[in-house]
Amino acid sequence: MFLYNTKMKKFYIHTMGCKSNQFESAIIKENLVKNGLQEAENIESSDIFILNSCTVTHKSDNEAFYLLRNAKHKNPDVITILTGCVAQIEKEKLLENEFIDYVIGNDEKLNLYEFLKQIINNRTNCAVSDIMELREFHQAVLEDTTKTRASVKIQDGCDNRCSYCIIPFARGRTRSAGSYFITQQVMKLANHGFKEVILTGIHIGQWGKDFGLELLDLLKDIEQNTTIERYRLGSLNPLEITDELLEFLQKSEKFCPHFHLSLQSACNKTLKSMNRFYTVEKYLAQIEKINQIFDLPFLGSDIITGYAGETGEDFEITRQNLEKSGLSQIHTFPYSVREGTIGASAPNQVDDKIKEKRADIVKAISRQKYDDFVRKNIGTVREILIEKHPDKKSGFMKGITRNYLTIITNTKDTSLANTLQQAKITGYENGRIYCEIL
Ligand code: SF4
Repeated sequence: MFLYNTKMKKFYIHTMGCKSNQFESAIIKENLVKNGLQEAENIESSDIFILNSCTVTHKSDNEAFYLLRNAKHKNPDVITILTGCVAQIEKEKLLENEFIDYVIGNDEKLNLYEFLKQIINNRTNCAVSDIMELREFHQAVLEDTTKTRASVKIQDGCDNRCSYCIIPFARGRTRSAGSYFITQQVMKLANHGFKEVILTGIHIGQWGKDFGLELLDLLKDIEQNTTIERYRLGSLNPLEITDELLEFLQKSEKFCPHFHLSLQSACNKTLKSMNRFYTVEKYLAQIEKINQIFDLPFLGSDIITGYAGETGEDFEITRQNLEKSGLSQIHTFPYSVREGTIGASAPNQVDDKIKEKRADIVKAISRQKYDDFVRKNIGTVREILIEKHPDKKSGFMKGITRNYLTIITNTKDTSLANTLQQAKITGYENGRIYCEIL
């Protein structure tokens, strides 16, 4: 069979989109290497091209097709495998494309090695679900020791139905990894020398829902039973930030003051039409509370501009609320219609140019917020985790603060890599932040 051929097969993997995808690609890579395949440096020298795709916008769908077509163009003999969210929602239609050899949905992608073992010699196009049973949520952990920080996926899927979002269709209902399993995986990472772990998932605020627990239960377990020095949480819904959770995070010595609170619109009318069950007033109050409780917390968010029915007045409300918010950074993207969602069939779709223009306005607000946030940090002393690779431009070591600032240090001493240091933040110029190690 293919994988037992004497000549070692080479694969090349390209990852699009979110942290979950990046995490899962690392798992796929690790499994394939463990099982005797070799990672190629480029598509030209690979036997298998794996695209772990994202379907957040139409643009990302198009990018996925471009990458696959381009792979065949560069190397006509390469076997192309499409996985990730694009693969999940339009599986059958996708196989009509001559540049796609195999389609593997999200539920199956972590079994990629098993899939290759079974079918790789059969060069007819097929979808993996035709030959493999659907597997349950895969619990796995990233062990890429070339990186300074690691991720642990604690949850997959989502039970909400935000009207613009395709993810619940692409990834299914919420499923959680067990608390014991997670703490074991984290300890494995600690034994590999990791000092910082990011807890990721599609909707981590729904962790434990499938077995009657809450995210806070998991965080307490992690705090008590693991030795990793720093944790970060993935994106949370504002309603999931309870007083109990905040109280716990405030007392915690391990969890960093870094929050990503998804917002999507800062206008109540638009939030309602998006099926987001909070008000902008509630959101802003949460942000204010977090800013008061923590020492310069990093508060990130995201905004969709031009959702169906968003008028100029609605956007103006969003703009004003964002201006007055205590956010540190706002990711934004213009609304992209996803077939099969409520948003796709909603009337009053907004013109693309208007969506882009509104996104540019939000980006400008975000730049200002970020600059303000960085400047508030100047002169303060922060703990930084020195990264394994120095800053490419200057050669100086760089590090990341608990409140999520990447900072260039005043040393080129590589022996400091992966250590925690105290540093005074000294300056901010051309988007680069500088510090002196104490
Ligand atoms: S909470 Fe809404 S936006 Fe987030 S994954 Fe679930 S449905 Fe999508």
